[in-house]
Amino acid sequence: MIDNGEIFVLRARICKRCGRILTKAESVERGLGCQCAKKEKAAETEKTPIPGQVDVYEWLKSNESN
Ligand SMILES: [Zn+2]
Repeated sequence: MIDNGEIFVLRARICKRCGRILTKAESVERGLGCQCAKKEKAAETEKTPIPGQVDVYEWLKSNESN
């Protein structure tokens, strides 16, 4: 296997999610295309609860105790 850096550059220019060729410098840095970066971000925000958002069950419980 030849490791002269060329292979890495070639890999870094392809979206790791869908395999599309990345043309924007920021996409290359991310390793994700624009659309895939959005999707990845959306999936991440779905996983993490929004700060300040009260769980409905917790809210009902605190109302009961009052
Ligand atoms: Zn992609």
